Amino acid sequence: MPADAPIQLSERVFYLPGSVNAALVVGDEREAVIVDTGQDKDAGRRLKGACAHLGVTPIAILNTHAHADHYGGNDFLVRNLGLSVYAPPFEASILQNPYLEPVYLFHGAKPPQELLSKWLMAKPSPVNQLLAPGRLELAGLALEILDTSGHAHTHYAVNVDGVLIAADAVFGTDVLDKYPLPFGQDVARQIASAERVADVGARTVLPGHGDPTEDVAALVGANLAAFERAAAAVAAACTGVPTSAVLRASCRALGIVINDLPRYHLNLCVVSAYLSYLRETGRVELSIIDNELRWTAVAPV
Ligand SMILES: [Zn+2]
Repeated sequence: MPADAPIQLSERVFYLPGSVNAALVVGDEREAVIVDTGQDKDAGRRLKGACAHLGVTPIAILNTHAHADHYGGNDFLVRNLGLSVYAPPFEASILQNPYLEPVYLFHGAKPPQELLSKWLMAKPSPVNQLLAPGRLELAGLALEILDTSGHAHTHYAVNVDGVLIAADAVFGTDVLDKYPLPFGQDVARQIASAERVADVGARTVLPGHGDPTEDVAALVGANLAAFERAAAAVAAACTGVPTSAVLRASCRALGIVINDLPRYHLNLCVVSAYLSYLRETGRVELSIIDNELRWTAVAPV
């Protein structure tokens, strides 16, 4: 099978597997909408080839969220095919200013150059229209845009033709095995969004990473279990120690070995998201002692 041959999930929905799954939704007039564009221009080029393979004309890109691996192909596709870009609010600012991703990962300060690679900073993309949850008519298609935020501060999924293009609202089960601290920025909403994926009633769910599945209950169950395992590991690590020590103990408990700066900051961001969540839900408390921010688990009453 040629590298640009997309895989069909339903009459109208196809996807191009890769480290990030990109989807193609085909309307009546052989026009297509691309959902997420992968890491870089090579991913964009593959999507262009996939459209040619299907004999469809892409007219728009829908980005689910502004992590570099989901919109890195925009630049190539916009330049070469003149596509319009639709993106969720908040995330749209990052698409247009990709430096924001390494900046927020480094506490808002100027990031070290290791955080400026294409893994964390894509080329900027224009945004032509902000997405909103609800029905969106595009290419003769009726797309249902769902708010599935939590993995990113604003994250939308696309429900069409029996397929939920979930992006990172849920991860494939093999991905959860490999990354036991699944990336998330707002854990309470991430949990609610995973539950929502189960309630949509889609026949097939396509995660952003991992294989599509029709066993939606098993997929969502595995994600919720991973979130709970991560929350428990972070809570157990809160023994009156600073954030860096919570990160170290959580990673040890979950079998994670970090050996580069991008992964350190990605995991630190996730641990910080869990600390916020655990504090909001009364499971940990913080104190600042001797110029150090310390986290302590609250004993259950
Ligand atoms: Zn993501």
